[in-house]
Amino acid sequence: MSLSERVSTLTPSSTLAITAKAKELKAQGFDVVGLGAGEPDFNTPEHIIEAAIKSMHEGQTKYTPAEGILPLREAICQKLLEDNQLKYTPKQIIVCSGAKHALYNIFQVIINPGDEVIIPTPYWVSYPEQVKLAGGHPVYVEGKEENGFKVTPEQIQQAVTSKTKAIIINSPSNPTGSIYDKAELEALAEVCLKNDLFILSDEIYEKLIYGDAEHVSIASLSSELYERTFVVNGMSKPYSMTGWRIGYAAGPEKYIRAMVDLSSHSTSNPTSIAQYGALAALVGTQEPLEMMKKEFAQRRDVTLALLNELPGVSCLEPKGAFYLFPNVSEAVKNSSYSTTDEWVAALLEEEKVALVPGSGFGAPDNIRISYATSLDVLKEGVKRIERFLKK
Ligand code: PMP
Ligand code: GLU
Repeated sequence: MSLSERVSTLTPSSTLAITAKAKELKAQGFDVVGLGAGEPDFNTPEHIIEAAIKSMHEGQTKYTPAEGILPLREAICQKLLEDNQLKYTPKQIIVCSGAKHALYNIFQVIINPGDEVIIPTPYWVSYPEQVKLAGGHPVYVEGKEENGFKVTPEQIQQAVTSKTKAIIINSPSNPTGSIYDKAELEALAEVCLKNDLFILSDEIYEKLIYGDAEHVSIASLSSELYERTFVVNGMSKPYSMTGWRIGYAAGPEKYIRAMVDLSSHSTSNPTSIAQYGALAALVGTQEPLEMMKKEFAQRRDVTLALLNELPGVSCLEPKGAFYLFPNVSEAVKNSSYSTTDEWVAALLEEEKVALVPGSGFGAPDNIRISYATSLDVLKEGVKRIERFLKK
């Protein structure tokens, strides 16, 4: 008896693994500084919680359509129109159990065995595994640190083969916080059109942008792009709703319908009461989001400055999301550890600082620090890293 070939090379999500490990150590009584989790430390805003409770009392505790309740899909259409200048009908929207699940469904409906998907590095940990689970091959294109961790159209063109089916664009990016501006997206779009690629635009950090950078949805640049793009977004990050598991995809109706059929045989609908919470999040006040954003901006600035003072550590300023992605190659070279993974494991062991090594994101010289935690915790984390570096 053996595992299926499909899962035989599957690796666990390093972001979730480190978060679970930090929680486990905390439960054992260790004073852990958790900088791993990519989830806001704020509780879900009260009006969202109230809406979910109300829906329960009103009996919204049954199956919903597999694609999600109509009022939520309508609210998503409205959001996409107002924020992104994208016109969709509810039939082009699927609500899923998180943006992760939306992405999973997209790969399942567009990938045939052997198809290639271009994944710019550094990438979010789940993209390659999801591509492989659909029978595809991830093709990595390096977003060089000196280019703000962004890829160029020339690099993408070079990576295209007759088997290339799609490209993933994640702006703002997890883990780097980099953002593609309109001109950069237009240039990338040209390559996608020329080579007839699907575009998966993961926009889950859209609302978390600091300074004067702007979010542009690639699908909004032309009708040809709109027809080949899946816009993926979700509630987890902007509304601090990670545990509620609500995300969505918008795209060409034919593919969205296939995703709905797939969901109808796997998860059925995403949790009914969470959908009512998500509806309140979209149509209700956006004030809690603004408050969170202000906090994140301050944490980013303070932690970035502190990190750049550490010997052997250099960190670019992230423009969005809530991660810092410092290069620690010098620090590792000057230590007794031979890889960043070992260095990160020792940091957890000796100083009880939990963060994610860059290897899981395809960038082994870097580490990811989530600043979705309090300033005090962040300062303590950097203090411990400094102590670790001096050992
Ligand atoms: N995309 C990116 C880039 C992410 O960082 C995450 C992590 N939450 C997701 C998608 C999935 O989010 P969720 O499933 O919680 O909606
Ligand atoms: N996306 C978040 C992170 O990168 C949450 C964990 C996950 O789903 O990967 O940390």
